Amino acid sequence: MKSLELYSKLIVNIDEYEKKILAAFSKEIKCKKGCDECCILTSVFPVEAYVIYKSAVSENLSLPENFTKDKCVFLYNGQCSIYKSRPIICRTHGYPIFYDGRVDFCPKNFTEIKTMDSGFMLNLDAVNRTIASINIIFVKEVDDPFFRKERISLTELYEYISKTQRVC
Ligand code: SF4
Repeated sequence: MKSLELYSKLIVNIDEYEKKILAAFSKEIKCKKGCDECCILTSVFPVEAYVIYKSAVSENLSLPENFTKDKCVFLYNGQCSIYKSRPIICRTHGYPIFYDGRVDFCPKNFTEIKTMDSGFMLNLDAVNRTIASINIIFVKEVDDPFFRKERISLTELYEYISKTQRVC
């Protein structure tokens, strides 16, 4: 599907941004396995849900059975159980983003620096607009009606993956 190609390219760009910021600020970024403070995501665009679904089903992924209260359903023992196919917002967690007219980042990061070149700031508004555009194409391309929605809750997606795994 054309939409999935576009989404993959966007992931490559975001992952390159991550590499760039990690290379420049490795000592300033405290994000690491086990820190799950930002894992409170509840819904995603259908194109992202589809990528998670396909990856989980093809790899017969073990989904978490015990949920952490008020946290993402895919969080397991402080780690992301769908890390390879995690949504774009999760790939930007903790880093400096320009969003809704302001710059934001995890307060545990960048505690020793006072300024930063704007080239290291990710324009999340623009990224979100791009995903929304890709999603419009995706919803027209996808056959499965489950994915033809505006947003998909992660709980609903978790249940859909589990149901498919039980049937296979
Ligand atoms: S999908 Fe993974 S990285 Fe994103 S909020 Fe859920 S557990 Fe955290």
